[in-house]
Amino acid sequence: MRTEGGGSAFAGVSIRSIGSRVYDCPTQGAGTVQSGVTERPIRPPRADPRDIAELKHLKTSQPELAAGVDMQLALVEMQRRVQGRVPLPWIQIDADWAAAQQRAARPLVRFRDIPLEWSDFRLTFRQTADILQRFDALDRPDYDAIVAMGREGNTLEPVVTRWYDVSSGVDGPDTGARVPPGAPVSLEHVLVLALRPFLARCAEALSQRVDLSSWTHGHCPYCGWEADFAVIMPSADRRLICGRCTGQWAFAPFTCPFCANDDRARVTSFATRDGRYRVYACDVCRRYLKAYDGRNATRPVMVAVDSIATLPLDAAAIQRGYVG
Ligand SMILES: [Zn+2]
Ligand SMILES: [Zn+2]
Repeated sequence: MRTEGGGSAFAGVSIRSIGSRVYDCPTQGAGTVQSGVTERPIRPPRADPRDIAELKHLKTSQPELAAGVDMQLALVEMQRRVQGRVPLPWIQIDADWAAAQQRAARPLVRFRDIPLEWSDFRLTFRQTADILQRFDALDRPDYDAIVAMGREGNTLEPVVTRWYDVSSGVDGPDTGARVPPGAPVSLEHVLVLALRPFLARCAEALSQRVDLSSWTHGHCPYCGWEADFAVIMPSADRRLICGRCTGQWAFAPFTCPFCANDDRARVTSFATRDGRYRVYACDVCRRYLKAYDGRNATRPVMVAVDSIATLPLDAAAIQRGYVG
């Protein structure tokens, strides 16, 4: 069908615009031609997320950290891909129940709350092991055993479920074995990293909805795992950051989160020369925690970056006889 205007214009486009969006069509009015010559601006390449950009910058400014940065980049990029396809869970939380959990020092997330799709988790688990092995953070026999667990039909499900239930303390104090006898020693390390993108969505969903002001414990109010890092807020309050779900919670500035020692004289604290990072080392249980000092900082804490930037602080703490 040929109609005056539209049909001929269409024909004009198909013939004259090969390789170009700019064309001149004599059968159309001036206005239509004007809109036809509008060229789309060339889209600039997508900028890296802030933590990726900071990690790349860290590698340039401190080349001695390159191996740690490269492994972290691989882990962060993989976890970001997974997290992007994990739905934000709707976790039904009753205020009285949440308050009772907090009084009993029990975390809020039960295993059934985690939006875990098993085939996706198995893939994430294997990819995590691949990355750790590639950067020599996993022994070959451990790697082989872990990959086999990730491949075999339903081997992984009961292991992961039990590990979460025991390590989160939802059934009381951590008394039972977290992993099956004979399991690879690195299994928990891989589980922590592989579960993170799924569990982080739970902390994200709950952080806006639950009042944690009565939580005064050193372990995570969302998943029960321990703190892996801390941030000193501009107000000088301290927040702990979970090493498993990356959730944050307020905690006394000088109390040890691992043994609750609150004798300030028995907490050794030292900082980097630029004042950006700090270590709190407990002289009772000998464990230490690193922190990002946000009081004069130009950006917020980024655990993926800051945990690598502070590798020299780990060395300093270990040299003084503390353990991570
Ligand atoms: Zn947690
Ligand atoms: Zn302690």
